[in-house]
Amino acid sequence: MELLIEEAAKIIRDSKFTIAFTGAGISVESGIPPFRGKHGLWNRYNPEVLDLSFYLEDPAHCWKYIREIFYDFFADANPNDAHLVLARMQEKGLLQSVVTQNIDNLHQEAGSKTVHEFHGNSKKLKCMKCGKIFHAKDINFENIPPKCDEDGEVLKPDFIFFGEGIPRTAYENSFADAEKAEVCIIVGSTGEVTPASFVPRAAKQNGATIIEINPQESMFTNYITDIHLKGKASDTLTQLEKHLFDD
Ligand code: NAD
Repeated sequence: MELLIEEAAKIIRDSKFTIAFTGAGISVESGIPPFRGKHGLWNRYNPEVLDLSFYLEDPAHCWKYIREIFYDFFADANPNDAHLVLARMQEKGLLQSVVTQNIDNLHQEAGSKTVHEFHGNSKKLKCMKCGKIFHAKDINFENIPPKCDEDGEVLKPDFIFFGEGIPRTAYENSFADAEKAEVCIIVGSTGEVTPASFVPRAAKQNGATIIEINPQESMFTNYITDIHLKGKASDTLTQLEKHLFDD
């Protein structure tokens, strides 16, 4: 593993444009479980509450669970070492952007500046009628569903539900960066969610070296990954950082 980490560090140091592509796995050590898998949220909750047509039929019902998952349960999560290493890499010019499937805002809280949020952000809520954006910290979640102070319409978390399209700017920026990338570091993603999983695939097609950090194999591992660092995100990125800056 040590040798693989050294090799990965050298490739990153030599690259002129590196992106990170992150999934739910990077936030597991911050206490946010993934959706899928043995300890996944879908073992406890019905994914229907995040289905757009179901939500539009009965937002009050869905909000009971949405509040519990995203505004009670996740509210106190903080960035972990993996988020912090990526932010420092960006600051030192070793990482140009983060494309994240996550909606937890932890990359920004860690200090990352260029983050393309492929699936939106749970810390913002949007009025589906007038488009006004509200910050979760300003919402009183005792009264659900929360409503717009302009027109009384129910607010929806500003991340995409099943059945919704990817936010256009994030989509375009993610693929533009994937095309430029010489290296793509995939952290904690099953690769099962499309079209997000096409981002590292596009990077690979354009000649990027793919470095994957995940304790398990994913849909990427045997297809596009060049170096699989088989470990948890925080440990592995911490070790990688030592080689990036100390050698
Ligand atoms: P996912 O595709 O994001 O994959 C989770 C992956 O993380 C798995 O491959 C697993 O092996 C890996 N993993 C687990 N612990 C890890 C660790 N400590 N270090 C590194 N990797 C680790 O899976 P999903 O949960 O099905 O997510 C689907 C989509 O749901 C995501 O793309 C995201 O949009 C959303 N989601 C977001 C959050 C969040 O914002 N934190 C949480 C859950 C789901």
